[in-house]
Amino acid sequence: MEPKTPEEKAALQTLEAGWENELAFLKELIALPTVSFDPWPKEPLFECAAKIEAELAALGPDELTRLRAPAVPEDAVPVLFAHWKAPAGAKTVLLYAHYDVQPPMDPADWTTPPFEPHERGGRLYARGSADDKAGIVLHLAALRAWKKSLGKLPCGVKILFEGQEEIGSANLEELLRRNAALLEADAVVIADCGNAEVGTPTLTTSLRGMNALNVEVRALRTALHSGSWGGIAPDVGLLLSRAVASLADDWGRPTFPIPGWDPRTAPARALPVPDRDRISGQIGLLPGTELPFPLESLWAHNWFEPAVAVTAMECGRVGESGNVIHPVARARIGLRVPAGCDVGAATGALEKALRAALPAWVELRAEPEDAASPWEADADHPLMRLAAETMSEAYGKETVFAGCGASIPLAKLFGELLPGTPVLLTGVEDPLSAVHAPDESLELADFFSGAKAETALFGRLSD
Ligand SMILES: [Zn+2]
Repeated sequence: MEPKTPEEKAALQTLEAGWENELAFLKELIALPTVSFDPWPKEPLFECAAKIEAELAALGPDELTRLRAPAVPEDAVPVLFAHWKAPAGAKTVLLYAHYDVQPPMDPADWTTPPFEPHERGGRLYARGSADDKAGIVLHLAALRAWKKSLGKLPCGVKILFEGQEEIGSANLEELLRRNAALLEADAVVIADCGNAEVGTPTLTTSLRGMNALNVEVRALRTALHSGSWGGIAPDVGLLLSRAVASLADDWGRPTFPIPGWDPRTAPARALPVPDRDRISGQIGLLPGTELPFPLESLWAHNWFEPAVAVTAMECGRVGESGNVIHPVARARIGLRVPAGCDVGAATGALEKALRAALPAWVELRAEPEDAASPWEADADHPLMRLAAETMSEAYGKETVFAGCGASIPLAKLFGELLPGTPVLLTGVEDPLSAVHAPDESLELADFFSGAKAETALFGRLSD
C-alpha cells in the first residue's frame, strides 16, 4: 500500500517486522479455552484478560481499567477499557473485540484439536482464531506498530474488550448505558464481522433486526384415540402446520405484508455475486436442489429482505407418541426484518397472519420474545469512506459495502448511545471461517491486510 506520510510508512514497516510476534501472541490466546458458556471453567477467561491487559499496560495508556456496572458481580469476567488521549487536532477511535469463544462442540469433528492452533494452506485453524481473537490481536498490533515506531499514537484510541459476547454481552450493555460519556469517540470499530469473500475487504453497513413468536394452538380439551375419533375430530398438528406453512414460501420469504417493507420499492444495489457451487456447498443444499433466485439477487434476499424461520415445532414426540390426536401444538417462529422496518410492527403482522390462517374456533396464544432492531450505517460518512480507502489499499482490492442477514445488538447500541458517530463493522472472518462450527479458521493473509488497514487508519485520523 502507498503510505501517506513517512510516519505511516515507518508504522507499517514496524507492523510487518513484528508480525511473527503478533501471530505468536494470537496462538497464545487461542490456546486458552475461553468459552463463556456454563459449565466451562472461567479461569481461562481471566487468564486471557490478564494477558491482554498486560499488553495494553505495556503500551502506556493514559487510563487502563476493568469496567464493572454496579449490578454485575465482582467475580464477573472483566471488560477491559483503555484510553490513549488524542493529540491536539486528532480524532479518537473506539476499538471493540471480544476474547470469549463458542464451545468447540464435539472435538471429534475437528481435524486438529480446537484449542491447538494449526496452520494449513494459509489458514490458521482453532476455536477463536477468526471469532474473535484475531480482532483483539489486530487492534493490539496496530497500536504496537505506532508505539514502537513513533513512540506515541497519532490519534486518540479507546479500547473496549469483553469476554461475554458469545453469551449475549449482558454486563456490557448495562455498563455502556451507564458510561456513555466514557465511550465518546469520532468512530467505533467493531472488529467482529468479516469479509464477503476471502481477500475482499468488506465493511458491513446493514444488519437485519429480529424477533421470535412462541405460539401455542389448542383445538381440543384433551388427547383422543386416533382410531376412535380420527376423521371427525380437529387435528391441531395439521392446523398449525398448515397455518405456519402459509406464512412464507419454501425459502422463508414471507407471504404476508411486512409494515415498512415493499419489495417493489426496494433499492437496486450492486452486490457481490457468489459462485453457484460454492454457495450451494456453504448452504449445505442436498443434491438436485436449485436456488430459485438469480445469484445476482441472492445477497439482497439475505441482507435487505425479511425472512421467516420455523425454529421449533412440536405436537407430540416421535418415538413417544402412540395413535393419538393431540390437543395442543406449539411452534417458535423467527422473523428477520431489514433496516427501515419496525420489528415490533412486523412481529404483530406475523401474529395477525397466523391468526388469519387458523379457523376462528382454534385457540391461539402468541408471545413475542425480546426484539433486536435492524441497523444501518451511514455509508457516506467521511470516516466510513476513509476506513474503506485504507482497507482497499491494504488488501489491494476495492472495499465492498455489504449487509448481513444476522443481528449484532452491539452495533445498534453504540449507534443509540453515540448518535451521529459512525460504527464500522469490520473483521477478518470470511465464508470459509466456519465460525461457531468445527474447524474454525482464519485467512492469515487477510488478517495481515486488516492489521495494515487499521495501522494506516490511525495515521490518517491525526488531522
Ligand atoms: Zn464474535
